[in-house]
Amino acid sequence: MTQINDDSYDLILRGGRLIDTASGFDGVADLAIRDGHIAALAPHIDSSAAQRVVDVAGKVVTAGLIDTHAHVFQHVTGRFGLNPDLCGVRSGVTTLVDQGGPSLMTLPAFRHYISEASDSRVICYLSTYLVGGLEGHHYAQLYGPEMVDVERTIKIGRENRDLVKGVKAHAEIGGKSRWGMDVIKEAAEIAVGIDVPLYVHLGQLWPENEKGVVDPDSVIEELVPLMRPGDVLAHPFTRHPGGFISTKTDELHPIVEAALAQGIRVDVGHGSHFSFRMAEKVLASGIRPYTLGADMHGYNTYVGEDGADDRKSNPFYGSQRFCLTLAMSELLALGLTLHEVLATVTENAAELLDMADEIGSLRPGLKADVTVLDIQQGDFTLRDNSGVEVKTTQMIVPTLTVRAGEVIETDSPLVVKPDTLH
Ligand SMILES: [Zn+2]
Repeated sequence: MTQINDDSYDLILRGGRLIDTASGFDGVADLAIRDGHIAALAPHIDSSAAQRVVDVAGKVVTAGLIDTHAHVFQHVTGRFGLNPDLCGVRSGVTTLVDQGGPSLMTLPAFRHYISEASDSRVICYLSTYLVGGLEGHHYAQLYGPEMVDVERTIKIGRENRDLVKGVKAHAEIGGKSRWGMDVIKEAAEIAVGIDVPLYVHLGQLWPENEKGVVDPDSVIEELVPLMRPGDVLAHPFTRHPGGFISTKTDELHPIVEAALAQGIRVDVGHGSHFSFRMAEKVLASGIRPYTLGADMHGYNTYVGEDGADDRKSNPFYGSQRFCLTLAMSELLALGLTLHEVLATVTENAAELLDMADEIGSLRPGLKADVTVLDIQQGDFTLRDNSGVEVKTTQMIVPTLTVRAGEVIETDSPLVVKPDTLH
């Protein structure tokens, strides 16, 4: 425990259960913040000179949550992009990683209108494709190998390393039926060129074209040899074909274990295709996700706008609401420990982003990005979009966000709470 020798603090969070998986700390303590940074963590911090004290007794205090799979390029990626702060600070999430929304062409707008305009910290994995993630990649013809400029995407990525933390691409049967694995080869080249991880979506996105039917298992078999240690396989729990579960055996594809042994990582990328049945199979095989992206977007998430509901025409429409904290509750229900779950959204995510010296821990000196969580007890029923129900006794609900020292209420309508489960 470290305490800087100065008793004037901007904010003290008093008496919560502080859990910092990065340092291994778990105990009731006070957390002091000054000048936008964590200043001290100790069993009792004198608050006489603090400008503000917030009592968080009975709550869990953790490093600010990091959502490694967001879609927040609002007004540019069509209905896909949600409001950053509704997904971010107002949902208890201090850092959002937009997965492939901005491209080399639209990154300046992403910086100006999204990243700089939001209270949440918003960074991105740069899209492999010229157009970025428009309309949720609805138009397959925009995502072929000719729609990629490897050299220029590397250049833009390298010039914007403060925002660009990785590269996003898709490996799935619809694309493979059109172009084989050529786009993934280009994406891998871009990631090497920028020197960041490659994040690959798994699970069918587009219908197969007339050239023929692709063996879904061949996607991951041909993908893994193109990846490097530190790259990320996404959507391990998808119900769509072409993921971790072999369509031939209905068991974990053996190449997944080989990939993890090579240092390839797994991000949940929850989305509307999240399946409890697939999750149970993958977790029973001993696979653990490294990070937990929520993958909320406008086709599967209530956005509180108009009554017209054209979302249902999108293949990624789903009726079950979810958010990052609900995805955390689901991982708890699936048997992960609270520490394992918290690590996916703090310590591990910061490491993935190469930002562990700024965020992802409550260590004094780091940015004062902090989330206060209420772990509510009761009898809850969680549901996926395949109609599977899972009973659980704990639900994680965000109650307060601190972003760079500023206190922000968690009032987003996107947060799923016990009374909004249906
Ligand atoms: Zn996504």
